[in-house]
Amino acid sequence: MSGIYEQLGIRTIINAKGVSTRVSGGIMSPEVADAMRDASRHCVDMWELQGRASEIIADLTGAEAGIVTSGAAAGLLLGTAACIAGLDPAKMNRLPDTAGMKDEVVMARSHRNFYDHAVRTAGAKLVEVGIPDRFSGAGVRDTEAWEIAAAITEKTAAVHYLAHPNSLPPLDQVVKAAHAAGVPVLVDAASQLPPVENLRHFIDQGADLVTYSGGKAIGGPQSSGILCGRRDLIASAALQCLDHDMFFEQWNPPASLMEKSVIPGLPQHGIGRPCKAGKEEIIGLLTALRLFVADDTQARQQMVRTALVQDLYDALKETPHVECRLEPDGYRPGIPIVRLTLDETAAGKTAFQLILELQNGDPSIHADNSRIDDAQIGFSSICLEPGHPKAIATRMRTLLK
Ligand SMILES: *Cc1c(COP(=O)(O)O)cnc(C)c1O
Repeated sequence: MSGIYEQLGIRTIINAKGVSTRVSGGIMSPEVADAMRDASRHCVDMWELQGRASEIIADLTGAEAGIVTSGAAAGLLLGTAACIAGLDPAKMNRLPDTAGMKDEVVMARSHRNFYDHAVRTAGAKLVEVGIPDRFSGAGVRDTEAWEIAAAITEKTAAVHYLAHPNSLPPLDQVVKAAHAAGVPVLVDAASQLPPVENLRHFIDQGADLVTYSGGKAIGGPQSSGILCGRRDLIASAALQCLDHDMFFEQWNPPASLMEKSVIPGLPQHGIGRPCKAGKEEIIGLLTALRLFVADDTQARQQMVRTALVQDLYDALKETPHVECRLEPDGYRPGIPIVRLTLDETAAGKTAFQLILELQNGDPSIHADNSRIDDAQIGFSSICLEPGHPKAIATRMRTLLK
């Protein structure tokens, strides 16, 4: 139990699920927490702070500019709003009413996901393209780039792309199709870090805007993220989330984000104003990012997490009725996860029942539930603390004896 949660009567959980939002994201290092405390002691000009963030993000991603957002979902909302309104403050003021604007966002049907609600929040209408035949079991194909090209009209504001190692069509083909029609591509790369190379990968492939979560595996504050990309679109995103309770004459946007002369006056508070990133989140994210790209931090993380996952494997491998193995984690190359297959007949319970018993016991243990149909449960080490492997193994033996 930790002091502050104990005071509030909130139990802490053992998080072997990973950096999911519903189990509070990842663990922040003391360095990040200290930087946030430091940030909280002084006030700054938020445009200036986002301007400096833009330089740092541009340097690390190869993008022209970037801002810190309150998460990847906020990045999707802001990125879409930028593609719809451009640098027109009158259009910004009208969102989510898009009458008279380009407001369609084209995406492959197989990329639809719960987070694309954030794209619609900006006022966009989704245009789904293709049939994900490879997932239905009926065929082998997915949406193809020519189908995306064919769906683009004069109403298209953007093409939206969900980045995943198995995403089809390939991003470079989608970019080619979109750019041929003068349409920007907005990439959701929320959980594609690590590997660290992915900070540049999607921009290198020609994406106009890319959004990442800060609160997942890079170790930033849970409510932080990055939106990076084309300078004019990032300027529009900044204009639609920063606070404008001032006169135009008082406003000094930093050159790293925009020239003041490109707009005739300041818009009102924009569609992105409810997803405010505070100075503490911005500094926390920038600190986490600096640590994330430092080789020694990566190596240290890798060692600690690999040791923990080995402890977990050693502790779990004698559990009755399970076959236990170390398996690569698609999301975190280099650090495996422990995967169990339960003999449901011998155990007298299903993997899903076991997941529920782990979750509803004391302490509450959350495991990966994505393969329960195959009687499999996964345990990730990314959010574990040193005493956790033993606690998990002890509970598993009790539940399966
Ligand atoms: C987690 C996630 C998001 C949302 O990220 P937040 O930083 O929590 O806003 C969006 N898209 C995908 C694919 C995600 O995995």
